[in-house]
Amino acid sequence: MAKREVLRQYFGHSSFRPGQEALIDGILAGRDALGIMPTGGGKSLCYQVPALLLPGLTLVVSPLISLMKDQVAALNGVGIPAAFLNSALDAQAFQAVCREIRQGMHKLIYVAPERLLQEGFLALMQEQKIAQVAVDEAHCISQWGQDFRPSYRKITEFVARLPRRPVLSAFTATATAEVQADILTQLELRDPVKVVTGFNRPNLYFAVQQPKRKQPVLTALVEARRDRSGIVYCATRSGVEKICDLLCQRGIPATRYHAGLSEEERQRNQDDFQFDRKTVMVATNAFGMGIDKSNVSFVIHYNMPKSLEAYYQEAGRAGRDGEAAECILLYGPGDVATAQFFLQQAGENEDLSPEERAEVQARDARRLEAMVNYCKTTHCLRGHLLDYFGQAHDPTCGNCGNCRSQFVQVDITRQAQMILSCVKRVQGKLGYYVGADLLSKVLRGSRSQRVLTLGLDGLTTYGLLRDTSEALTRRYLEALEEAGYLVTEPVHKTLRPTPQAGEVLFRGSKVFLTQRAAPAVFRPREEGL
Ligand code: ADP
Ligand code: ZN
Repeated sequence: MAKREVLRQYFGHSSFRPGQEALIDGILAGRDALGIMPTGGGKSLCYQVPALLLPGLTLVVSPLISLMKDQVAALNGVGIPAAFLNSALDAQAFQAVCREIRQGMHKLIYVAPERLLQEGFLALMQEQKIAQVAVDEAHCISQWGQDFRPSYRKITEFVARLPRRPVLSAFTATATAEVQADILTQLELRDPVKVVTGFNRPNLYFAVQQPKRKQPVLTALVEARRDRSGIVYCATRSGVEKICDLLCQRGIPATRYHAGLSEEERQRNQDDFQFDRKTVMVATNAFGMGIDKSNVSFVIHYNMPKSLEAYYQEAGRAGRDGEAAECILLYGPGDVATAQFFLQQAGENEDLSPEERAEVQARDARRLEAMVNYCKTTHCLRGHLLDYFGQAHDPTCGNCGNCRSQFVQVDITRQAQMILSCVKRVQGKLGYYVGADLLSKVLRGSRSQRVLTLGLDGLTTYGLLRDTSEALTRRYLEALEEAGYLVTEPVHKTLRPTPQAGEVLFRGSKVFLTQRAAPAVFRPREEGL
């Protein structure tokens, strides 16, 4: 049978998607392969089609039990002999699968990485003719990926202990250069066929909103999308509970998913969502890996995730059917602290040397910063995402919140002059620079203890921005930083003027603040796009 017949007969597809054929051809020719495709891009097929055509067994290393179960069920459903071996099986069922493997009944075996070097399993595999070892979610091998699984490191040793080296294929949706490089070296891929397919998802509309209060905005967003299927991601379990209750009270058929629920409830809620008995899933990031629901029409993030990798993967669960769908992120400055807290906790749980930990922390901080930049940018959001994943793009996409809003440039030169001279006066008085918090208090004429004790209320620049809100004052400070007139000192977070500040103070350079003219919430389906 040829690969096209396999594709049609077993999987019911008439043609390959971009990238699939090159990977399949490579694997069939005995070459290692690395497939980098976005979530939903069709990675599974790239090792499943060769599995059916190669003489021998394909072993699929997969990180999650639920993922294996779904895949095996789908394969069995179309008559492909496959099974999984993991801790969900009792001893009897486990032995039964081992027997079937010995009898050569299976073409694909899914296995958790922890299993690979266990004696009984290894011995069994050494007796088999293994044609391919396929590594799903291969970024788990990289310490720099968000889902590092130390046991993925066992794969190379496992392969080395097989009597004959099989073809190694690896797949992931994480495209950053460092993770790619890590996969290549850690797995010791030999001259692999490498395919990186487009990350752009033109049918997804991206938007960021920064509301004062998130709850009313969220309920309004969901209510306006009644009868459509959607996911609301929250950072915490308690957030999930709160939002799910809130939506249910409004008569929206919502359900929930997080790691604190029983296995049965998680399964039941996932099924309710999958089969459209409930239209909205409120969940933590525990929900999603392996779900295959094509008609998700919106993904709203109630909190900002900790990286763009995580965001794009979660948001990317919208619109898999190719229909217009929305990905909306509700950003609040508090989200940064929450993300930092989770990163720190995750770091403490891992068994790393101090140097490794420092490196991981530095990377996590960079990732978080890129995520925050996405929330703050006034440029094309899609462009921002594609830049991050290393893909070229047009300067504007016309289908994101930023491309569809009007931005106006507000001249804030006068305020900038007040701020910069206040920075200098404060320094003149105290002999040192201060942080944004104290500075904005002085500018706004605060009677706070600290201001008074330091005698800053006597400065001529005290209270110059008395009628400006705290939030807007902060935006001015940010604008001055972005324009390069102020800089935050990294250790003490004090704000200092740069040499360029003189241009604003003495040489008439103008400073602008970019502001959104009209908040754009765009609903593609209703507006007929
Ligand atoms: P990934 O693992 O990359 O997230 P999957 O392998 O789960 O993606 O595939 C996502 C969806 O795309 C599945 O529903 C699958 O049936 C479908 N699919 C994969 N390849 C093709 C193809 N060549 N033609 C049509 N649909 C495909
Ligand atoms: Zn855009």
